[in-house]
Amino acid sequence: MPTKNDILTLKITDITPDGLGVGKTDGGYVLFVAGTAPGDVIEAHVMKAEKSYGYAKAEKIITPAECRVDADCPVFPRCGGCLYRHIRYENELGIKKSWVLENFRRIGGFDISDIEIFSAGSPDGYRNKAQYPAGTDKDGNIRFGFYSKHTHRVAPCRACALQPKFYADIVGAAEDFLNKYKISPYDDATGNGLVRHLYIRNGVGSGEVMVALVINGDVLPHSDEFVAAVRGAADGVVSVMLIINKERSNVILTDNVITLWGKDGIADTLCGLRFEISPLSFYQVNHDGAELLYGIAKKYAAVEKSDVLLDLYCGTGTIGLSMAREAKEVIGVEIIPAAVRNARENAKNNGISNAKFICADAGKAADELSDGGVSPDVVIIDPPRRGCGADVYGAIEKMRPEKIVMVSCNSATAARDARAFADIGYTIESLCAVDMFPRTGHVECVVLMTRK
Ligand code: SAH
Repeated sequence: MPTKNDILTLKITDITPDGLGVGKTDGGYVLFVAGTAPGDVIEAHVMKAEKSYGYAKAEKIITPAECRVDADCPVFPRCGGCLYRHIRYENELGIKKSWVLENFRRIGGFDISDIEIFSAGSPDGYRNKAQYPAGTDKDGNIRFGFYSKHTHRVAPCRACALQPKFYADIVGAAEDFLNKYKISPYDDATGNGLVRHLYIRNGVGSGEVMVALVINGDVLPHSDEFVAAVRGAADGVVSVMLIINKERSNVILTDNVITLWGKDGIADTLCGLRFEISPLSFYQVNHDGAELLYGIAKKYAAVEKSDVLLDLYCGTGTIGLSMAREAKEVIGVEIIPAAVRNARENAKNNGISNAKFICADAGKAADELSDGGVSPDVVIIDPPRRGCGADVYGAIEKMRPEKIVMVSCNSATAARDARAFADIGYTIESLCAVDMFPRTGHVECVVLMTRK
């Protein structure tokens, strides 16, 4: 077993969802090494040695992996947003696919030889939302950027590769305006300073853009000029807002929103439906990725006109609503009241009258629905990372739907939940992975299970 400060040659064979390269010593001891790629041969400096695994630093890359590329970002890996920028995107897809497969084999106990992984187009420029904290550069100018990993220091960065290119123009215009009037950035440590964050969102389907400045005060000096500056920086700006946040906490947004110019938010279209998006409402950050994911869920669900569809963990209703026109009835269940209100508005705005939404815990609501005699034909389950858990299994067992379509951002808990459904008589018909968040450690999976 290696000990601290040992230097050894190590071949990296894998990478974790946290972006740590994994290598095994000749003795089978596992070392995790940041910044490495599967295939790298490195000179590893052991920094910490636990009983069965340890952490090392790559002092030198002796032979670079074939999948290695030069990271094309000045703040990678400091910012912590991207984990795989040093790996060719095709290889990233392969890595993510193998996590999903491996979890379904190891945790779920399913014998699946291969699955498909779908990419939502370009791995760059896909995010339709950004919140840039304000800081200062070495010359004392106000700059927007990202927090360096595990710190509250702002690394200035106008052009994040995950955001559309025009976001950089808006960031630049906002910085120029603030520097012209010497308006100060907020300082976490003292609670002084005015500007906390610049917040941008855009509707990929609509072309609409909103820009908001989050401030630690009630007024922005020369706000008319700010409006003119950001409107002039990009096409499609329809809303410029201030968000007042005088709390000393890490929470970025508040509901104290002042519209300086234009609308109170933006609209967008997703899966043929129209959504109104306020600064506070939840909305998928990868528009094309969401359409791809929901499209697969829809194909798996193959809803018919006589079908009752139960959409558990429905958020703002997007998945169920995207299938409502094909179904007899959609029942959505979601625990956050604001999301349920959004879901109801979304249904109304799209003229959908066969969808209703219940604000409750998914397991409890499903149980009560089944006690009330509701027996859905298709159940959609899109739970948070921890998965759905035992009370949902019980309700499904009572309701006996023909199909379960599980959408999950955590294939480990999805595999566990799928095993529980297999144990009550369901088999996996289809399974695939969808890379909604290229360059990050996240991947979605979709499972179709049918009753035997
Ligand atoms: N299907 C939606 C949202 C999925 S995210 C979409 O695609 O946009 C998971 C959702 O589950 C969140 O909206 C979260 O608020 C909700 N949630 C978390 N725990 C819950 C519970 N116990 N019961 C019901 N909903 C819950």
